[in-house]
Amino acid sequence: MKTIDEINHKISRGEAAVLTASELKRQVADGEHLSVADVDVVTTATFGIMSGTLALVHIPVSAPGTFHHAEKAWLNGVPAIPGPCPNERLGVVDLVVFGTSRANQSYGGGHLFRDLVEGSEVEITVETGGRQISRNVTLAEMDLARIVTTRSAFMNYQALVNRKEGTERTIFSVRGISGPFREVTVSGCGDINPLQNDPQGRVIGVGSRVLLNGGMGYIMGTGTRSTRKHPNIAAFADMKEMAPEMMGGFVTSDGPECITSIGAAIPVLDDTILDSIRITNAGIPLPVADIEDRTAFTSSHYGEVWDHTDLVITYSPEACLQCEPCQAAAICPTRAIIPGERIDPLRCVHCGTCLRECIGDAFSGNLGTITVEGRPVPITCRQSSREHALRICHHLKTLIIEGKFHLTGKCGDLW
Ligand code: SF4
Ligand code: SF4
Repeated sequence: MKTIDEINHKISRGEAAVLTASELKRQVADGEHLSVADVDVVTTATFGIMSGTLALVHIPVSAPGTFHHAEKAWLNGVPAIPGPCPNERLGVVDLVVFGTSRANQSYGGGHLFRDLVEGSEVEITVETGGRQISRNVTLAEMDLARIVTTRSAFMNYQALVNRKEGTERTIFSVRGISGPFREVTVSGCGDINPLQNDPQGRVIGVGSRVLLNGGMGYIMGTGTRSTRKHPNIAAFADMKEMAPEMMGGFVTSDGPECITSIGAAIPVLDDTILDSIRITNAGIPLPVADIEDRTAFTSSHYGEVWDHTDLVITYSPEACLQCEPCQAAAICPTRAIIPGERIDPLRCVHCGTCLRECIGDAFSGNLGTITVEGRPVPITCRQSSREHALRICHHLKTLIIEGKFHLTGKCGDLW
């Protein structure tokens, strides 16, 4: 039995044995015998669309005395909620902005959050006393800018199909989901997800330090719709510490959504925790639901999503037909395609949508199939990127090895 203090001392001395979750699982699969003495920390992560993400920001708008208080506000056209503090006559606003709020069908809160973290100027518009005041502002000018998740990092999620004829527009697909059983879309990073490696919440809890969009953050507790069997977490972190490639916007067939990422370090204190981390994709249930009612009617497993499939979608410019306009670029939910040139690796989330949209064969990648009631149904859209989650696991491992990330023991249970 180890303690978190002991592990933190090892981290400070540069002596902690740190593995990513995938490294540990590979060693186990290779038949290596691992004991608690061999590993101190295992890094886990998830990356994908998480609708329950919002920003709390404090923004200077104009000189004190210029307006009484903000009645309405927008950031780059994305509606924001002024308050709760009225900031009467101070010329500043406190705003809450939802990651799912939309300026239009292709730009929403998730895009706005990434633009801010990238250092771009955004336009703040305040409606007050029948007039509007606007100015451009950057994240650096905001005294406080924090991302808060109300529901993130579900232990596992659902696959979605359409059992009827026709195509359903949905936030769970870029093109809509066509049926009956013509395609399936999936979310969740499988066996590297934080809660999947600590399903009892033995070491992950209230107060646990995490990486939220790459920034140092903390878990507040469980999020909305969290259940003991199907838990998720709520967390917060400073936007000024975040990394743009670990977050962003994603345009679905039902409008913009928000990409969020969470990385968590699991201290290997005892055999029970080590045993939990041995979980593999094939051992994790993936409920399959109909898009109409989102109620699971059968189940698969994450092995079908992430084992023997390609985590990365690749682009071959020599196979590009140079069509005008490029349909793949037009539909790409993160605007990652530069036709005839490349995919932007900092924007692509390897969802796979371009595979079907490209008129030629410029894109390649095997997304696999899910077995639904005995029939193989092709996966056409992944709304989580295991590739990016793996990168976060490695990044967190590096931070720990370099002594830049120490563990916090939980100060409260998640359930
Ligand atoms: S649709 Fe495919 S082949 Fe056509 S321009 Fe775009 S990438 Fe090239
Ligand atoms: S996989 Fe294709 S469609 Fe999806 S984000 Fe990457 S380039 Fe865009």
